[in-house]
Amino acid sequence: MTGSAHTQAFAPPPAITDGRPLLLGLSREELTETITGLGEPAFRAKQLWHWIYDRGETDFAQMTSLSKGFREKLTERFEVGRPGVKLHQKSSDGTQKWLLRFPDGQEVESVHIPESDRGTLCVSSQVGCTLTCRFCHTGTQRLVRNLSATEIVGQVILAKDSFDEWPASREGRQITNLVMMGMGEPLYNFDNVAKALKIIMDGEGLGISKRKITLSTAGVVPMMKRCGEELGVNLAVSLHAVNDEIRDHIVPINKKYPIAELLQACRDYPGIHNARRITFEYVMLKDVNDSDADARQLIRILKDIPAKVNLIPFNPWPGVQFECSTSERINRFADILAAGNLSAPVRQPRGQDIFAACGQLKSESQRLKKTERDAALAAAAVPAET
Ligand code: SAH
Repeated sequence: MTGSAHTQAFAPPPAITDGRPLLLGLSREELTETITGLGEPAFRAKQLWHWIYDRGETDFAQMTSLSKGFREKLTERFEVGRPGVKLHQKSSDGTQKWLLRFPDGQEVESVHIPESDRGTLCVSSQVGCTLTCRFCHTGTQRLVRNLSATEIVGQVILAKDSFDEWPASREGRQITNLVMMGMGEPLYNFDNVAKALKIIMDGEGLGISKRKITLSTAGVVPMMKRCGEELGVNLAVSLHAVNDEIRDHIVPINKKYPIAELLQACRDYPGIHNARRITFEYVMLKDVNDSDADARQLIRILKDIPAKVNLIPFNPWPGVQFECSTSERINRFADILAAGNLSAPVRQPRGQDIFAACGQLKSESQRLKKTERDAALAAAAVPAET
């Protein structure tokens, strides 16, 4: 399939509920066009942006800095928009997971991980995934479709609602960091991810800075430069193996973009330097990629890249063939990296009891035929009264 045919086949549905278009997920330019299209001056779009993304307001009637007439016009024609929550779970360690359900019936998960000095929201970019990484639960689910910018921003907004974290700029926030590490491959849905991240980074709204955002990719080499240039976010790369033979097997996208090409794209990643390193994720799989020789080879292949390594203890899921390396092995691996001057914290598994840890996310969503998709949407959309 060509790029544009792929984009079309997996496109998200239009952002409409109850027959009314949603404003959530429109870029600033689109919002301005929408507002001037109603015969209102452009500065009203700026005010509206503030209400939606700084105050978290969903009821136009409460947007008191807008004229009454304008508020009524908005209520008649639009909705701000919120994703539906099918399930909200909390782990014994404080991690939370939301299963979101969109109007066409498709579902994804997002996860909040609290730590002493920060709170990280892990956001999904696709329903399902094309990558089929052998050790990843999401990888057993076929790609259903891309998420729209509305649905990606919606995950952040919904978590903020849940913490009652409005206005967005207030002190003591629970969501300080954002990682594009949920379901899907963000660089295979770049346009929607980029649009969403620009909204999320906007200083007059959610205002999460690019320094606090990390996008994780399994290595979609041709998109990495654009990601750095257009978004400037931190990059994480799911490396997981030090030679092509093993990586071809466990991260099959390696057959298309092998390690040497991937590492060159990392060296070329815009804005990368010693104070702003690329994170290499390395899942610890017993007897697969966890030997002393693997650790030493990892030091060699990363030596000329500003890098840090995140060692991720493998999180099991039902039916999986792999086992996690022992903690002695993981510590030994980390020690070898440290001796080679490679910083390598071990990522603590979080939210395992609610299947919220890395690689455990999966929804029941299946890819529907076009006729079935249209029927699901029609059933969800009750036309607005005119
Ligand atoms: N597609 C992107 C975004 C997903 S990020 C990417 O591959 O980077 C999810 C991270 O969790 C990736 O580093 C992935 O390799 C890792 N992961 C997947 N399954 C896992 C598992 N069972 N245990 C631990 N980490 C896992």
